[in-house]
Amino acid sequence: MSAIQLRNLTKAFGDFTALKTMDLEISDGEFMALLGPSGCGKSTTMNMIAGMEEPTSGKILFGERDMAGVPMGRRGVGFVFQNYAIFTHMTVRQNLAYGPRMRGAEKAEIDRRVGAIAELLQLAPLLDRKADRLSVNILQRVAIGRSAIMEPAIFLLDEPLSNVDAAFRAVMRTELKQLQRQFRQTMVYVTHDQLEAMTMADRIAVMDHGVLQQVGTPLEVYNNPANVFVARFIGAPGMNLLKGKPAESDRGLLVDLGPLGVTPPLPDELAASLRGARGDVLYGFRPEQVALAQDGRGLAMPVTFVERIGARTIVHLGEGEGAVKAVFDNDVGLSIGQTAVVAPAASSVRVFDAASGVAKR
Ligand code: ATP
Repeated sequence: MSAIQLRNLTKAFGDFTALKTMDLEISDGEFMALLGPSGCGKSTTMNMIAGMEEPTSGKILFGERDMAGVPMGRRGVGFVFQNYAIFTHMTVRQNLAYGPRMRGAEKAEIDRRVGAIAELLQLAPLLDRKADRLSVNILQRVAIGRSAIMEPAIFLLDEPLSNVDAAFRAVMRTELKQLQRQFRQTMVYVTHDQLEAMTMADRIAVMDHGVLQQVGTPLEVYNNPANVFVARFIGAPGMNLLKGKPAESDRGLLVDLGPLGVTPPLPDELAASLRGARGDVLYGFRPEQVALAQDGRGLAMPVTFVERIGARTIVHLGEGEGAVKAVFDNDVGLSIGQTAVVAPAASSVRVFDAASGVAKR
């Protein structure tokens, strides 16, 4: 069953539409990430789910129940925001116990729940510390614990890790996922950080300019982006996209990239969907799915820059609209000014309509 349904959800602030007719179903127990660049409408969507903003039009259902007019406190959601104020004059234990105590839980029950959540979030040794003595990292962990202890059926998190440091963020990604596995909550997680979305979410809703671009598992949005926005946004670096025209050859359908030459023939299915298509296309391939062609069959391009990041090497090739990147797990020994012949793995090639940006399937 769907825990949350957004139907035709729209939010306008005056003349500005922050969210346009969004449809999304989030299953019971699912971890859904809302991912997109700053200003794409993620928080607006979240605030409407939480009950902090009223939709301009459209509906939000929890199960079968329409949430229109249901105030925030009656929605049964837990939430953690980027700067979640916790009670700094209280200890960690008092902060964690606050919600259950307000609900009138028995002391033994409160102690049991505080113990369990502290264990899960590695707060056990800090339970008797005053919150004003804790680092931002730990404070955010307490904020998450304070909300999670209420065991809400729906847990909303809006950029909860954006103020914590990188090393701690990596630890918290694992902890949040464990928390969700343990409590089997439905989690909606707003982030602009694709690593967070890719590592934690069951599915990702990718948004841009108030419009839902694609919903899918992390691998689906990575492997089969619905459009050019998703192709570029997902992946680090994003997908390479080169403009060209489909062309028949004696080896099969390929893409003529003009001065860059022609691509290797397209896989059969892609070729079939492109036959007869008019207009320019964008030939896409992931930087990680490129080999250096020894037989000269591929795209010959000048190396313009080489980034060595530990064991990874990112090679920049070509310039302007014809620039691409290739990522290798080892030092491939290329240097600026050399020509490399790169061959995208056939299975990784995707083609998009250049005018609409929509993927050809
Ligand atoms: P960020 O990560 O920067 O918060 P976001 O994707 O969460 O980005 P929203 O906060 O949902 O984006 O904002 C979407 C758009 O709506 C932005 O252009 C923002 O300026 C605008 N907006 C949000 N709240 C209001 C408001 N109360 N009044 C006017 N415009 C608003």
